[in-house]
Amino acid sequence: MDFETVIGLETHVQLKTKSKMWCGCANEFGAPPNTHVCPVCLGLPGVLPVANEEALRLTALTGLLLNGTISPQAKFDRKNYFYPDMPKNYQITQYDRPSSVGGYVDFEFAGGITRVRLTRSHLEEDVGKNFHFERHSGVDFNRAGVPLLEIVSEPDLKSADMAYEYLNALKEILIHGGISDCDMEKGMVRCDVNVSVRPKGVQELGAKIEIKNMNSFSGVRRALEYEIPRQIEVLRNGGKLTQETRRWDDAASVTESMRTKEMAHDYRYFPEPDLMPFVPSKDWLEEVRRRVVELPLARKQRFMHDYQLPASDAETFKNEIRLGDYFEATAKQAKHPKAVANWIINNLRAKMGETLTSLDELKFNPASILELVELVESGKISTKIAQDVFGEMFASGERPGAMVDRKGLAQVSDTSAIEKFCDEAIAGNPKVADDYRAGKAAALNFLKGQVMKLSKGKANPSLVGEILERKLGRNSSNGKSVHR
Ligand SMILES: [Zn+2]
Repeated sequence: MDFETVIGLETHVQLKTKSKMWCGCANEFGAPPNTHVCPVCLGLPGVLPVANEEALRLTALTGLLLNGTISPQAKFDRKNYFYPDMPKNYQITQYDRPSSVGGYVDFEFAGGITRVRLTRSHLEEDVGKNFHFERHSGVDFNRAGVPLLEIVSEPDLKSADMAYEYLNALKEILIHGGISDCDMEKGMVRCDVNVSVRPKGVQELGAKIEIKNMNSFSGVRRALEYEIPRQIEVLRNGGKLTQETRRWDDAASVTESMRTKEMAHDYRYFPEPDLMPFVPSKDWLEEVRRRVVELPLARKQRFMHDYQLPASDAETFKNEIRLGDYFEATAKQAKHPKAVANWIINNLRAKMGETLTSLDELKFNPASILELVELVESGKISTKIAQDVFGEMFASGERPGAMVDRKGLAQVSDTSAIEKFCDEAIAGNPKVADDYRAGKAAALNFLKGQVMKLSKGKANPSLVGEILERKLGRNSSNGKSVHR
């Protein structure tokens, strides 16, 4: 019997705000424990939460970026449970009226574009962090109350690899949209995985197994690579799966049971009495809408379409957003944007890497790159000279056209001048010239090299080839030209 896998993901993302969700404490990773705390985020009795407006904006912006519908009235609820990292014994979240409903993420997968639908995105608060030492445990509340967005997908994912690519695409969108830095090392993105298997063709979903608290995308992939065959194996052997929550043990590379359905929490959700429902005004939403940016995948496709770039170049400009902007500033006026892309990716990017220079530190502007490309394309300078010009322009910032004029680097396309160099090269190397006449094709390259040397690299190489061939009788009718 064949099985198919059904996966849904709940992704938690810390929002990029200066302060926490309900108080003015800094939303900052890495400070000494319990230094960014106050009565509100410590959950002391009698305090009142005040919603962080930027977090509300970022939540709405995420909804727009992910093609969702912004709720006309979003409500906050209390999710009740006891845990040491949550001293007020409830978490403020959104239960039945989340900030954004629906939407989808499109991403590249298996050579095509795959769409995963979203159920909802809702705003909640992060909790503190437990630390376990040899003889005691501690809690750091710096993270408590950090705005956390939960993005819930529909069960549209079908494999470990697809889940992995979806997460990466989602992360790209969130970083690009300025929603979150998504720094995995700092725990800014975590996810819960819901996975079940069912015999192919069966409509009903299998028992839902949840793997909690994954903090890396590769971990999610590995957990699924373990969990999916495990479930199939149970069913193949005639066993039965029941709804449960499991934990991924990264070191042992296995999932293990944490609790079954009978032990599931009842969170006793109820409306948060200290917060009004949030009703975004038209103007407020319009302001948020102005922050919508082009999505990374759309950008890649546009670069391929508008500038005729190969997928690999467009991918580079998708991943390196500022370099892509730099390319675009140049390419808009270019006759051959691909040539500009080559210079930016192969030369500029490489040189910036070598010299640890950022785009902001460049001494020239994008117009200089365009000027250089045009100098090569018009035949005014050779590619070889262009490399030297680029190196010097990178160091000094001088405009390439001005440099070529000042240093007399223009390629010599004047036939009489090149003829003179060719005569000189042939006269100086009679043996090589004879070899060529006798049929040794490679001899011509040597002579070409001599002419380039005599012209200090400035002779137009294709003209040099033509003239040498003519002078050596390659194209004459006396039969001396033997290579056919
Ligand atoms: Zn606080």
